[in-house]
Amino acid sequence: MTQRYSVRVTKDYLVFCSGHFITYDGNTCERLHGHNYRVACELTAGLDPNQYVFDFIALKNYLKEITDRLDHRMLVPGTSTRIRHTVEGEQVTLRFENRTWSFPREDCVILPIANTTAELLARHIVDMLLETLRRKHSFVPGSLSVEVEESFGQAATYTWTAG
Ligand SMILES: [Zn+2]
Repeated sequence: MTQRYSVRVTKDYLVFCSGHFITYDGNTCERLHGHNYRVACELTAGLDPNQYVFDFIALKNYLKEITDRLDHRMLVPGTSTRIRHTVEGEQVTLRFENRTWSFPREDCVILPIANTTAELLARHIVDMLLETLRRKHSFVPGSLSVEVEESFGQAATYTWTAG
């Protein structure tokens, strides 16, 4: 019999306040705006020798490190085929059709995602957290879900499952 337990973490400090805009319906591009994003995480696994699924404090710290990297930044969809970005010196320029935005490099985070939707941000955070858990603890959970709330009562979740 496989026993599965889960832990869930959501804290007032697991937030990031960031700028973004997305494209949708092919040729529509939002205006630049921002959100106070809030993150929750649920991790499933068997119990370790301490009778833990995973150390809450470590999990909160890793999530905080990830949200800190996104906080007070312009979120750039690095693999978008519609919003093209170029980095020249200390400047990042985004282009969509005849519109152009330019930001200081240090104000941007270029993400390996095609659109900065809450769904793909959740997936990116899952990927970052899985990498940290593997690297620091050689730990692979049974499943890992991250919810990204974009505005009050409006959230997307990505769930990764082992195997
Ligand atoms: Zn938005």
